[in-house]
Amino acid sequence: MSIPHFKKYIASLRVAEGKKFSLKKFDTAYNPKGIDKEEGLRMMQESTLKLAELQDKLYAQDKYSVLIVFQAMDAAGKDGAVKHVMTNLSPQGVRVSNFKVPSSNELDHDYFWRHYKALPARGEIGIFNRSHYENVLVTRVHPEYILGENLPNITKLSDINDAFWHSRFKQIRRFENNIIENGTVVMKFFLHLSKEEQKNRFIERIDNPSKNWKFSLGDLKERLLWDNYQAAYEEMIAKTATEDAPWFVIPADNKWSARLAISEIILQEFSKLKIQYPQVSAAQKAALLKAKEQLLAE
Ligand code: ATP
Ligand code: MG
Repeated sequence: MSIPHFKKYIASLRVAEGKKFSLKKFDTAYNPKGIDKEEGLRMMQESTLKLAELQDKLYAQDKYSVLIVFQAMDAAGKDGAVKHVMTNLSPQGVRVSNFKVPSSNELDHDYFWRHYKALPARGEIGIFNRSHYENVLVTRVHPEYILGENLPNITKLSDINDAFWHSRFKQIRRFENNIIENGTVVMKFFLHLSKEEQKNRFIERIDNPSKNWKFSLGDLKERLLWDNYQAAYEEMIAKTATEDAPWFVIPADNKWSARLAISEIILQEFSKLKIQYPQVSAAQKAALLKAKEQLLAE
C-alpha cells in the first residue's frame, strides 16, 4: 500500500453512509494506476500472508469475529474471490457459507434464521457467498417469492410495496448493528460487473467443458432482468451502507485487480480491530516457568 494512488483508489471504493449513491458512478473496469499484474500479484501474496497473521491472533484472542459478505450478479467472480481470501488462512478458523434458494424448512423461519446460524463464532472469520441481502435483491426482482415466506399481512403482490422494502432495509441494519455491538466486524463487497463482461464469461462457461457445470439456462433468464437487478442493488447499497457495516463496490471486470482490492480492504478493516495474542498475567507467567522447570527436571 505504499503507492499513494492505490490508497486513494481503495478509499474511493467505499460507499459513504447517507450520501446519494449512484451505481453508474462506480467503474466496473479499472486497473489500479501504476500497478501492473505482476506487482499486483506480489502485493496480494503479501496481504494474504499478513491476513493469516491477523487471523492467528483473532483466533487466539477469541473475542471478535469477522463477517465478510459477497454479493454480485452471476459470473462476477464471487467463488474466485472467496478462494483468494482463503489462500493462506487456517481452515480451522474460517467458515464459508453459500446461500442458495431457501428450502421449505428455511422458508418456515424468518429470513435471518439460516444466516444467523452461519455467523462466525468468536475468533472466526465467516464468509457469506450470497447472504441475507438476497432477501432484498432476488426477491425484489421477483416479489412473488416473498409470498412463499407466508408472512403475516403479506398475502398479495400489492402488499409488497416500498414500505415493505424499507422495513426490510431497516431490519438488515438492525441485524448487523446487533452483531457488531457484540463483537463482530462486518464488511460487505459488491462485485460490480459490466453486462458485456458477464456475456463474455457466460460464453466462456459454455465453450470450456470444465466450466459447463457453472452455467445454467436460468442465468440467461436473470440476465434479461439486468436493469431490475442493478436498480435493486443500487437501492439496497444506498440503504444499508453504514459507517460500521460498510459496502465496497469492487470493479469486477478484471479478476486480479478485483482480488487485490478485496485483499487490501479486508486488511485495512482488520487493522482497525485491537487484536492481539492474549496477555499472560504475572501469576500465569510464573506458573508457566514452573511447568518448564518440571519438564526439564524429568
Ligand atoms: P455463480 O455465480 O457461479 O452462478 P451462484 O452463487 O449464483 O454462483 P447458484 O447455485 O447458481 O450459485 O445460485 C444460487 C441461487 O440462489 C441464486 O440465483 C440466488 O439468487 C438464489 N438465492 C439465494 N438466496 C435466495 C433467497 N433468499 N431467495 C431466493 N433465491 C435465493
Ligand atoms: Mg448462479
